[in-house]
Amino acid sequence: MLRPFLPTARRLIPPATTAGIYFVAASLALMVSRFEGGLAFVWGANAFVMAKLLTTPRREWTGTALGCAIASALATGLFGMGWLAAIPMAVINMAEALIVATICRHAPVDRMVMASTQSLVTFILSLCVVADTVTGVGAALVASSLKPVAFGASWVQWYTGHTLGGLICTPVLVLLMQGEYARWRRSTSRAQKIEAMLLLAIFAIITVHIFYSARYPMLFAPLLPLVLIAFRVGHLGAAASILILAVVGGVATMTGVGPLTMILSSPGERIQAFQFYLALSFLLSLPVAAELNGRLRLFRMLQQSEARFRAIAEHSGDVVLEIDVDGIIHYASPSAHDHIGCAPGLLIGQSAANLADPIDRAQVMAAHRHALGHPGSVHQVEFRPLVSAAGLDWYEMVSRALVDAHGVPSGVVSTIRDISRHKARQRALQEVAERDSLTGADSRRAFLEKLESALLHSRNGICASLLMIDIDHFKAVNDRHGHGAGDAVLTAFVERLRPGLLPGDSIGRLGGEEFAILLPGSDIDRAAMMCERLRALLVGPIQLDGGEAISVTFSAGLVELDGASTRGAMMEAADQALYRAKHSGRNCLRLAA
Ligand code: GH3
Ligand code: MG
Ligand code: MG
Repeated sequence: MLRPFLPTARRLIPPATTAGIYFVAASLALMVSRFEGGLAFVWGANAFVMAKLLTTPRREWTGTALGCAIASALATGLFGMGWLAAIPMAVINMAEALIVATICRHAPVDRMVMASTQSLVTFILSLCVVADTVTGVGAALVASSLKPVAFGASWVQWYTGHTLGGLICTPVLVLLMQGEYARWRRSTSRAQKIEAMLLLAIFAIITVHIFYSARYPMLFAPLLPLVLIAFRVGHLGAAASILILAVVGGVATMTGVGPLTMILSSPGERIQAFQFYLALSFLLSLPVAAELNGRLRLFRMLQQSEARFRAIAEHSGDVVLEIDVDGIIHYASPSAHDHIGCAPGLLIGQSAANLADPIDRAQVMAAHRHALGHPGSVHQVEFRPLVSAAGLDWYEMVSRALVDAHGVPSGVVSTIRDISRHKARQRALQEVAERDSLTGADSRRAFLEKLESALLHSRNGICASLLMIDIDHFKAVNDRHGHGAGDAVLTAFVERLRPGLLPGDSIGRLGGEEFAILLPGSDIDRAAMMCERLRALLVGPIQLDGGEAISVTFSAGLVELDGASTRGAMMEAADQALYRAKHSGRNCLRLAA
C-alpha cells in the first residue's frame, strides 16, 4: 500500500530539508534581531534560499520555494510579526530569492556567483538594485500597517538586513553547495593548503583580538590579511575569511562586546553597522578573488589548448612550424626530421623560406605575408624543397596567422606535407591528356597550346613554321587492310617521321589521319626542305606485324607564322595550302599564299 507513495516521499526530502534549514535560520534571526518590534535586523535565511536556487535545476525551484514559503510563514507567525503577516512576508521573502535567481540564471554569465567578476556583479546588482528595492516596499508596507513602526525606517531595515545577509552569505553558500571546497582540496598542493590554513588562522586571531581584547576600535586591521588571503588562497579563502569575520564579529556585536559597542549604543544600530562593515569587507576581497579566479580559469584553458596543440603537433605526420612575423622558425615538430631531413632543433632560428628551393622561395614568402595580412583565413602554397629527403620533391604548406589579444598577427602556424605522389599523379594525368593515345603524337589541345606560344615568340622575331599534313587515300588503306591495320599505319607513320624532326619540333594529331608539325626556328624555306626530308622518310613501305607492307604518301600545306596574326588564321592558311596540294594530285607540298 505504501509503495506508490515512497518515490513521492523521497522527492519531498530535499525541499523539506531546505525548508527546515530556512525555518531555523529565520526563527533565529527573528528571535535575536527584532530590536524594534517590526522587521528583523539580520536576515541570512533568504541568502540560503538564493544559494539553493542558484545551484539547483529550475524544475526543483517550485518545491524549494514552496517549502521555504511555509517555513517563512511559520517563523513569522511564531516568532515575528504574527500570523496576519505570515503569508504576505512569506510571499515577499520568496519573491526576493526568485528575482535574484532568475536574473542570475538568465544573465549570459556563469551561474556560479564567484566564477568571474561579471557573474559577481550580476548577482550584486540583481540583489541590491532590483530584488531588495522592490521587496523592501512590500515588507515595509506589511510592517508599518501591522506594527507601530515607520514605513521608511522599516524599508531601510529590510534593505540593509537582506542585502547584507545576501552579499555575505550567498557567495559562500554557493561555493560550498557546488563542492568548491572538495575541488580546492583536490587541486591544491600540501604546501598551498598549509599556507591557506596559516593565513586563515592569523586572520582568525586578528579578528578575535579586534573584537574581544583590543582597547581601541581597529576594525580596519583584519582588512590587510583579508586582501592577502584573496590573492593567495583565492575565492574560497576570501569567502572563508568573511565567514570567520561574520561569526566572530557577529557573536561579539550581538552579545555587546567589540569595537562597535564602543561607538554605538543601540543594538539595532550596532548590528546594522556591523553588517555594513561585513559588506565592505566582502566588496573589498571577493571581487579581487573573483577576478583572479576568472584569470586562473583562462590560464587553465590556455594551458589545455597549448597541451592539445603540442599533442597534435608532436604526433602529426605533417611538419608543424611556428613562424614569427619575420619568417623565422620558432617551433618545429619532431616529424621535421623525417620529412625535411633536418632535426627540429636545427630549424629553430632559421628563415622558413630557406626550406624552399630558390625558384619557389618568393612564392613561399608571399604566402607568409598573405597569411599575416589576412588573419582568420588559411593560405596554401606548393613548393619544391631545398633539400629533398627520400626523393620527395614537392611540399604543400598551409598557413594560418596567430593573433594576439588585440587581433594583431603575431606569427603564423604552418603545416607542411609531402605532396610528391599527388604531384606525380597530376603529372601523369597531364601527360595522358597531352598525348594522342594511338600514335603518341601531341594531342590536338597540347599542340594548339604549343602553336600559341610559338606565335607569341614569333612576335619577338623568332621565326617558326606550321606544316599541316594529311595522309593520301587513307580510306583505301582501311578498306583494303582493315581498320586495325589502318591504326597500325597511323602509329608507324608518326614513328617514321620523328627522326626527321629537330629536338624542339613537335608533331600533333589534329584528328583522323591529319597531323600538324610545328617547326620553331625554321623559316618557310627551311621548313619546305624539312618537309621533303620527311617525305623521303616515307619512301619505303610500312611493314605491319601481320606481314602486310603498305606504302603511304602525304600532302602538306605550309605557312610561316606571322606574329601579327592569330592561331586560327595560321591554321586556316596551312589548311588552304593543304587543300591545294590535294587538288594538285596529292603527295606534294603547297605553300600558303
Ligand atoms: P584524301 O585525304 O587523300 O582525300 O583521301 P582520304 O581517304 O585520306 O580522305 P578521307 O578524309 O575521306 O578519309 C579519311 C579516312 O581516315 C576516313 C576514316 O575512316 C579514316 N580514319 C580516320 N581516323 C582513323 C583512325 O583513327 N583509324 C583508322 N584506321 N582510320 C581512320
Ligand atoms: Mg587523307
Ligand atoms: Mg583527311
